[in-house]
Amino acid sequence: MEKWKCSICGYVHEGPISEDFKCPLCKQPASVFEKIEEAPAAKQRILMQEQKQKKICGKLLQVNLRLETNIHILHQ
Ligand SMILES: [Zn+2]
Repeated sequence: MEKWKCSICGYVHEGPISEDFKCPLCKQPASVFEKIEEAPAAKQRILMQEQKQKKICGKLLQVNLRLETNIHILHQ
């Protein structure tokens, strides 16, 4: 699923956006949206980490992973 982030308010839209799409929060047009790219290698690494953490059964670790993933996406 592709994701688009509003560069004005940070709203994240999941799925494709059309040209007449407007941000539901700040009403800016589709042109202010930036596509969030997820590198396949990074995705695979995250999957492996999640599987490992499921074995450990640490809820805290999973929360940390989510935060790391979000930071990774934001920095792209
Ligand atoms: Zn917005």
